[in-house]
Formats: sequence, C-alpha cells, structure tokens
Amino acid sequence: MSGSPTIGHIGVFTSGGDSPGMNAAIRAVVRAAAVSGLRVSGILGGYEGLIQDRVQPLGPRDVSNIVQRGGTILRSARSDAFRTPEGRALAHATLQRHGIDALVAIGGDGTFTGAMRLTEEHGTPVIGLPGTIDNDLAGTDRTIGFDTAVNTAVEAIDKIRDTASAHDRLFFVEVMGRDTGFIALACAIASGAEYVMLPEVPQRIEELVSALAEAKSTKSSSIVIVAEGDEEGNAFAVAAKVKEQLPQFDMRVTVLGHLQRGGSPSAIDRVLASRLGVAAVEHLLHGTQGAMLGEVCGRVLATPFSEAVGKRKSLDSHLLAILPILAT
Ligand code: ATP
Repeated sequence: MSGSPTIGHIGVFTSGGDSPGMNAAIRAVVRAAAVSGLRVSGILGGYEGLIQDRVQPLGPRDVSNIVQRGGTILRSARSDAFRTPEGRALAHATLQRHGIDALVAIGGDGTFTGAMRLTEEHGTPVIGLPGTIDNDLAGTDRTIGFDTAVNTAVEAIDKIRDTASAHDRLFFVEVMGRDTGFIALACAIASGAEYVMLPEVPQRIEELVSALAEAKSTKSSSIVIVAEGDEEGNAFAVAAKVKEQLPQFDMRVTVLGHLQRGGSPSAIDRVLASRLGVAAVEHLLHGTQGAMLGEVCGRVLATPFSEAVGKRKSLDSHLLAILPILAT
C-alpha cells in the first residue's frame, strides 16, 4: 500500500453509478493538487474515457461553482473494454501519452477492482474515494452520496406518509441500495416506517403480514420500506404476496428509483468529499497507493482496495434492534 513514486501529474475520474458529492471530491483533488504544485487532468467518462483518450487539463478555476452540484462534471460510464487486459493496456497508453503519474478514482467496488487490475498489470498508483450512494464499502462509515440519497428518499417518503394517512392506505416504498440495505434501514428509521425488508436479514412474508395486521388495530396507515435487493423480490412482488393474505388492505407501491441518485449534495456529503479529496492528494504524495480513503470514527483512514471491496460491511445492529421499538 506504500511506495514513493515521483508524482507531478494526477488524473482524476468518476466511475460506476454517479453519486451526489462527486463534484465536491473532484474540486478538492484539483485544488489540493494545485496547492502542492501538481498538474491535474480530468478523465471524462471513467475507464471508457481513459481508453478513448478523453483527457482534459483541470485547474482550480475549472472547478468553480460545482461543490453544490449533483452528478459529475467528468461524467461517468461503465466500460466492458476495461475488463479486458487489452482495454487496460490502451488505458495505460493514454496515461503515458499525457504523462499522468497517478490516478484518483472516485467510484464503487467495481471501480476499485478495475484499479487493482491496472496497478497489477501496469504499476499505476491509484487512490480510491468511495463515491456511491449504496454505502456498501468497508473502510468508511459513510460513502460519498449516501447521506444525500437518504435525505432525498426520506423527503419523498414523508410526502407518501401524508397521502397514506389521508386514505388509510398501506404503502410499499422501494429504495435503492443494490444488494445491501443501508439506505433502506436509514430511511425506515428516519421516516418512521412500520417495517423494512432488507437483503441482509432473512425475513418471511408471514412476519411482515402479522406485523401489519397488528399495526392495523392501532394505526390507520402503514409504510413498509423495501430494499431493492430484498430476497422476497421488489416492492411490487412483496406487495402482491402481502395482498394474498391481507386482501382487505388498500395498498399502493412506489419505487423511488433514480431520483435518489441526483440532486444537490447535503452538507455532510460535501464535507466528506472535500476532506477525502484533499487527503487523496496528500496520500499519493506520501507514497500511499492501492487503497481507498474513508472516514472512520471521524478520522481519514486508508484501506487496501482488496479489503474495501472484499469485506462486506454490516448493517448497524443497534439501528436494526430499535426499529420495532420505534414502530410500536
Ligand atoms: P457503483 O457502486 O455505483 O455501481 P462501481 O464502481 O461498483 O460503482 P461498476 O459498474 O461495478 O460500478 O464498475 C465501474 C467500472 O469498473 C466498470 O464499468 C468496469 O469498467 C470496471 N470494472 C469493474 N469490475 C472490474 C473487473 N473485475 N476488472 C476490471 N475492471 C472492472
């Protein structure tokens, strides 16, 4: 994870799904590099842009007025070509042509797996920043974008609660998170949901049905949060199974979808991204590479890519335990 290559020119890119706060991270990398006298180039469109030589110089003024913007000014993409040794050789050739000595990769586990391959085959030093709304990376308490995504979803669920109460309805709300339930659990607590279906917790429809039947005796409306990766299926599938057993319930399903990815990043995400972006430059200059930077208990920590992507982060067991208490 440590070495001391001479670094004068850093490439920065965003990859995988976009997340709010990526722009704040790009801005921090560019400005921290400038302060240290380094050149920075932005690579457009992730690994695909690296293969296709879509590289442009970035100075401190090029990243003005982006800290508050969602999405990513460098755009993002998935690249099948980069999954092949031939694609990675083309990417390395681009780096050589531009004299780029090291990379800051902002993305998720796929991005870091790709970075490991590039380093193994071509020796390119890479520091990763956790840019994904899913919060599914070990080595950081929160990923860049998670807080904003949860806030966006909770705002939407609050509105759904209004209409659920007005019509005495049961709502199933599906939130993102791929095969993890971090967004779902945080949303359930923050929105006062009656129940949450999580991929990490084996739950049966029977448990949900009895919880809803019990809630019906004291509450007119209920909200069930369904993580998109739940093993019982998506929110429509879960609702259909519940409807078979509780046909008297007036039910509706809402899938929040991609609106959770967009929007202006929260202050928490902006601060996290800014802190990690500056730290990425400092770590590269101190010889750290092949690692993702995260924030753990308030401190910046470097975790080797293999651990960040290989270890499954657990849900907060305390939050899991208090949900039924809060839903009584
Ligand atoms: P998110 O968590 O938001 O989906 P991600 O970084 O996990 O972000 P992916 O689409 O999985 O998103 O990965 C981004 C890119 O990384 C892929 O399009 C591909 O180019 C590269 N990549 C992923 N896995 C590998 C791999 N095993 N080998 C080489 N490159 C890979």
